[in-house]
Amino acid sequence: MTPDDGVIAILFGAPGSGKGTQSAYISDVFDLAHVSTGDMLRAEVAKGTPLGVEVEPIMSSGQLVPDDLIVRVIEARLLRKEGGSGILLDGFPRTVAQAQALDAVLARAGRTIDVILFLDVPEEELRERILRRGAEEDRPDDTPEAVHTRLEVYESETAPVLDYYDAVGANVQHVDGVGDIDEVRARLRRAFGAHGTEPAR
Ligand code: AMP
Repeated sequence: MTPDDGVIAILFGAPGSGKGTQSAYISDVFDLAHVSTGDMLRAEVAKGTPLGVEVEPIMSSGQLVPDDLIVRVIEARLLRKEGGSGILLDGFPRTVAQAQALDAVLARAGRTIDVILFLDVPEEELRERILRRGAEEDRPDDTPEAVHTRLEVYESETAPVLDYYDAVGANVQHVDGVGDIDEVRARLRRAFGAHGTEPAR
């Protein structure tokens, strides 16, 4: 990663907020590399690598994998050079320690985060959405117990990341995540565009 490698954006939200779907859309529209730590870990599990074997039970239970492990994974990914107008992080950082580690990695490259989009969805709706998705997609961490754990972990570990970014004066854009998918897309596009980046298409 070099100082002119393009925009660094984060799509931040609770499990079930739609961040996976919306990150894919925003990264396509603005020509960003979509970096999803959940997708990266699921790929390791599917391939049966040592990392996949280690993280599979943690993911199925709805807990977070250890910070040092995920920071190593993301650091390797950030240092891999590629085209496009920048990167969109999805599902990382998920703890204040991860946010601090990310800041340190970026600082070494002379970079900071350009924009953090927070996709805001009330808890009751999150629960309903995840359970519906569990029925449709058969994700092992969409069972009622794992959903409960994931929402608790979000409140205790991940929500404080937003306070951290507010405290350091980062550019946090709040986006209402309730409504149909096109409405939310349009809000995200506006919030991302306000950062000054033109859509690639
Ligand atoms: P996601 O698809 O983003 O909901 O991630 C699925 C699961 O992968 C999470 O419930 C965690 O077990 C694990 N995971 C993904 N990203 C992280 C992260 N940044 N830190 C710790 N665990 C993560």
